[in-house]
Amino acid sequence: MGAGLGCRSRIRPRERLSRFSSIRIGGPVSAVISVSGPAEMEEVFSLRSREEIPGPLHFVGRGSNILFPDRGLEGTLVRLETADLSSSCRWREEEVYVEAGYPLPALAREAARRGIGGFEFLSGIPGTVGGATVMNAGAGGREWASLCRSVTIMTPAGSVETLPAERMGYGYRTSLFGGNRHSGSEVTGFEPLPEGSVVLGALLSGFSARPDECQSGLARHLEYRKRTQPIDEPSLGSVFRNPSKGPPGYTAGRLIEETGLKGEFRGGIMVSRRHANFFVNTGGGCERDFRELLDYVSGRVRERWGIVLEPEVRVWNA
Ligand SMILES: Cc1cc2nc3c(=O)[nH]c(=O)nc-3n(C[C@H](O)[C@H](O)[C@H](O)COP(=O)(O)OP(=O)(O)OC[C@H]3O[C@@H](n4cnc5c(N)ncnc54)[C@H](O)[C@@H]3O)c2cc1C
Repeated sequence: MGAGLGCRSRIRPRERLSRFSSIRIGGPVSAVISVSGPAEMEEVFSLRSREEIPGPLHFVGRGSNILFPDRGLEGTLVRLETADLSSSCRWREEEVYVEAGYPLPALAREAARRGIGGFEFLSGIPGTVGGATVMNAGAGGREWASLCRSVTIMTPAGSVETLPAERMGYGYRTSLFGGNRHSGSEVTGFEPLPEGSVVLGALLSGFSARPDECQSGLARHLEYRKRTQPIDEPSLGSVFRNPSKGPPGYTAGRLIEETGLKGEFRGGIMVSRRHANFFVNTGGGCERDFRELLDYVSGRVRERWGIVLEPEVRVWNA
């Protein structure tokens, strides 16, 4: 689709961020626009350069890892989506180029159907390819960096660049990609990415496997999640990263649980009784509740274990 009325007709002024957040938190935003594919993304940059949409631009996928501010945001929330699953990924043997808005569980299912292994861990992560590229999403000992060969980005000037995965500075749930002004990268020692760029897609590579083995891998991942995580309640997944120090095998969840904090709450946000590293919105919870609980939990864990927990969720400031 070329530049035209396509995107402009989908600009929604004065929306609430909570509608685009998996934990249903967040105040007003000046505008929201849903985008699918590079031509529409180029159109959004061009609308912005002509000041036809308010700035700055904030790129998101499913909002499954972002704590939006109660006070809201100035600018335009740009949601990367997939209009059509089949045309948004191009397979060639064990490799696939997937657009940023593609949902991770659908990607895991499609890889399994084709008998391509290595994608199973994505089956229960409720985000998009763009979010996983930025976050280096992972589960069960596997992470995005193990699949990713290159990342294609678009700069605000509309130029498209493909960067080898080695340039992304991947580490544990981090990348060079700050994503936007809220989340400046904590990774150093790599050439910075062009300011204000968006992830358009990624080239991924798995390995040849039997479809039935891939399917049982998917089923195992999903069953484990159902049993151990509050997947039916609004959350942002793991709140804290697992610490690199401390007793072996002590994940952030175990430290919180053994500090006796399951069920602790502030306002409408509660430490899940099913998994202590998940905070769930029990109804009406807001950013302030979440932050208060986060500070309280990390303070109690520090007192008890001498370990400083670092947030995994991206906390956006107004
Ligand atoms: C129930 C539940 C379970 C979860 N389990 C896991 C898990 O097992 N492992 C794991 O790693 N995570 C997990 N998560 C967290 C989350 O799903 C992942 O981090 C996911 O990769 C985020 O994808 P998203 O599309 O929702 O990104 P968002 O939350 O929308 O965005 C995350 C960051 O990426 C940036 N971003 C998103 N898309 C683009 C783009 N196209 N271009 C530039 N920047 C972009 C945003 O600005 C933001 O900084 C879980 C979350 C929930 C709610």
